[in-house]
Amino acid sequence: MFKCRNCKNIDKFELMFSKNYDKEKTYTQTYNENNQIEITVGDYTFIPDIKFMNEHAVCKYCGQIYIWEKEDNNEKKQKK
Ligand SMILES: [Zn+2]
Repeated sequence: MFKCRNCKNIDKFELMFSKNYDKEKTYTQTYNENNQIEITVGDYTFIPDIKFMNEHAVCKYCGQIYIWEKEDNNEKKQKK
């Protein structure tokens, strides 16, 4: 899980595709059994790391980039 340092939302992001990317610019975001995000683009599925997030993901709420940090889903914080 990834948290926006600016607005504290978790996993609320959209991917930015490079202008040179000429395939379908759609993707799906799912969770695997370890509660890790998996992103599928076309027929390619991967688990994004923090570097990928900071290079390609924009926060849906505050529109910031380069603001992601890893959020471990310990039981501590299960509000909402
Ligand atoms: Zn944000």
